[in-house]
Amino acid sequence: MLKHIAFLGPPGAGKGTQAKRIAKQTGYVHLSTGDILRDEVARATALGGKAKAYMDRGDLVPDGLIVDMIRSRITAADGFILDGFPRTVAQAEALAGITPLDLAINIALSREAVIDRLSARRVCRDCGKIYNLLFNPPQTPGRCEQCGGELYRRDDDQPEVIENRYDVYMQATAPLIDFYRTRGILREIDGTLPMQTVSERIMELLRS
Ligand SMILES: [Zn+2]
Repeated sequence: MLKHIAFLGPPGAGKGTQAKRIAKQTGYVHLSTGDILRDEVARATALGGKAKAYMDRGDLVPDGLIVDMIRSRITAADGFILDGFPRTVAQAEALAGITPLDLAINIALSREAVIDRLSARRVCRDCGKIYNLLFNPPQTPGRCEQCGGELYRRDDDQPEVIENRYDVYMQATAPLIDFYRTRGILREIDGTLPMQTVSERIMELLRS
């Protein structure tokens, strides 16, 4: 089994969902940069404090800081699945200096499909539960099943904003895809396939 894995793919491709499922099946550690950042900030670590200063200003957390947070988790793990990292070639090079990846799996989704999926996302105003009108609609339209709260569409899930997020992602990530293709470890999966099929394809790749 291949053990050092990264998932690439645009917002809405299901990287997080797949990473959770595959981590459960393999026992590998799921490393999501978003979760790690929140964890470091919540535990008020030295790195968390530095990251928070950037986040409070609305700035991106610098590559070096992200790499420092990931480093100890990667070296402690027997197998890992990276979700949301690396995001740039600089991060990919830093990662290669810590440990080489076995596989970079790109879960590909077209611009149109990303817009359809993300603009169908709704969030509960009261408890934060996330729904998707396409895959996981609430039983009563507009109402949270968990707490009865009102569902709304977040500002960054508005179609114009999604288009921009997609373009920004593609611009930043296209060189990353080339980076891993050149190294012969890039594999691609069609993100429009059903969730279960995508999981099965990923497991096949890990066994190859
Ligand atoms: Zn709710």
